[in-house]
Amino acid sequence: SFQKIDIKPDAKDELAQMSHTFNEMMELLEENYDKQQRFVSDASHELRTPLTVIESYASLLKRWGMKKPDLLEEAVDAIYDESQRMKGLTKQMLALATGEPDKTVILQQIDLVKSAEDTAKRLRQAYRREIVVTANEKPIYILGDPERIKQLLFIFVENGLKYSDDDIRITLDQKINNVVLSIQDKGIGIPKDDIPNVFERFFRVDKARSRQTGGSGLGLSIAKAIIDAHGAKVDVQSEEGKGTTFRISFPQVNKKQNEKQSGGEKV
Ligand code: ADP
Repeated sequence: SFQKIDIKPDAKDELAQMSHTFNEMMELLEENYDKQQRFVSDASHELRTPLTVIESYASLLKRWGMKKPDLLEEAVDAIYDESQRMKGLTKQMLALATGEPDKTVILQQIDLVKSAEDTAKRLRQAYRREIVVTANEKPIYILGDPERIKQLLFIFVENGLKYSDDDIRITLDQKINNVVLSIQDKGIGIPKDDIPNVFERFFRVDKARSRQTGGSGLGLSIAKAIIDAHGAKVDVQSEEGKGTTFRISFPQVNKKQNEKQSGGEKV
């Protein structure tokens, strides 16, 4: 039969304490659940770009198959590179899920003009949109992690594509003391008050506006981690309705090294 529980005055406190603890536990669980949900949606978002590229090349291959040897090589290269990128992304997503983004980079001398041209080619293919690359010199060397630099370019150019309808311009400037990479779009722009927050994790300007584009507010926080890891600096110029320019300034590679590299000598 039903057993009555007698609550003595001091037991009441214990019960209150217990229910308090229980509520706290529930909150923690809920919070973690939210974080997990968010992680899953972020991960799928970030993995979508390389998947889009792989998908579009695979469908070209299906259509043209062996009939176009040039395409075959380009497609296989693209599919391989993008799978590598997905692998890197999953690693970074996991790092983000567990706390700090993975800031390790393996620096080597790379030609930023080539990285930009490769990225533009990939994204033109995937999105059927124009991406214009201009450089005041060719090649322009920086000390960079090739995979991370590609990821960085993808994030900025993809944002440009997402938040504008016009062409995207990538500009490379070899200056006396540094190398400046700019990514410019003529899109919706970022409200002045929001500019300082765009590199924060999960920050999105306008949830309703941004939801249509299916972002996560994670891209630019990954980009910032990559910029920091390269000892580079970023600034944002943006005007609502006019467009946005992100400028990333990389430290200069030792000029001598530069000459040796282009002269084909051993360093
Ligand atoms: P998301 O996945 O939402 O694009 P990001 O971290 O890449 O996340 O960007 C954060 C927010 O900054 C975006 O939601 C968007 O509101 C704004 N933003 C980023 N790039 C641009 C751009 N080129 N033009 C306009 N707004 C931008």
